Amino acid sequence: MDLTGKTAVVTGGSRGIGRAICVELARRGANVVLCARSVEGAARETADLCGSNVIVVPCNVADAADVKNLMETAREAFGRIDILVNNAGITRDGLLMRMKEEDFDAVIATNLKGAFLCMKEVSGVMMRQRYGRIVNISSVVGIHGNAGQMNYAASKAGVIGMTKSMARELGSRGVTVNAVAPGFIDTDMTAALSEKTKGKMEEQIPLKRIGAPEDVAKAVAFLVSDEASYITGQVLCVDGGMGI
Ligand code: NDP
Repeated sequence: MDLTGKTAVVTGGSRGIGRAICVELARRGANVVLCARSVEGAARETADLCGSNVIVVPCNVADAADVKNLMETAREAFGRIDILVNNAGITRDGLLMRMKEEDFDAVIATNLKGAFLCMKEVSGVMMRQRYGRIVNISSVVGIHGNAGQMNYAASKAGVIGMTKSMARELGSRGVTVNAVAPGFIDTDMTAALSEKTKGKMEEQIPLKRIGAPEDVAKAVAFLVSDEASYITGQVLCVDGGMGI
């Protein structure tokens, strides 16, 4: 699954799953363009882990001008964009009765509109190249729902709908669009959960362990490779069997 000469844009690439994706794609030879809102600290560390063919671009994926600049910078640096991984995501959890409107809007803006803006910006480039690989990071919560995460579930279910629609729109131009739906993965996003809650969740996972960011990164690396060239519009759950 060699990616030498390919250029990958990974949103939210500074930490957690995004970092593991950047490192895995770079390890396979890809040029990596990683974005996050904060490009100091963690983002620089990720860039160091990726080696030399990497650039870090500040970008809020919910902001159309930022996304335009991200893609232009990527093309200026490496000439083309072969791979887009829409990974940037946030949570603002709460039961519906207590969920504030701004918590709903913030999650939709980053997780759903962000993916829309990035796909809109790269789809023309990929269609002209007659080649592209898009992977959208959804969640098992987008498939099964979760109490206290109505906003997040809506955004992640929306990502699946967008993935299938884009797969239909872009298929004839050699562009595949798939989603990866992680289960419970050990990152900053899940760090706030108590050991007791984590233990309970582990019990419910058939493989009896919480996932690592690298588990997700390997699935993404497969979907963006030539080995996956006849796979499009699919949702690959990387959840240790949690959703069976
Ligand atoms: P983290 O919170 O560890 O990292 C999130 C990353 O996204 C950071 O790099 C962050 O950088 C970036 N980010 C957040 N908002 C924006 C924004 N508006 N624009 C650009 N970058 C942004 O999250 P995870 O690694 O856990 O999650 C990654 C993806 O996987 C998300 O889409 C998440 O929903 C999904 N997922 C995670 C699961 C888990 O168990 N961890 C399970 C299922 C899905 P910065 O803050 O500097 O912008």
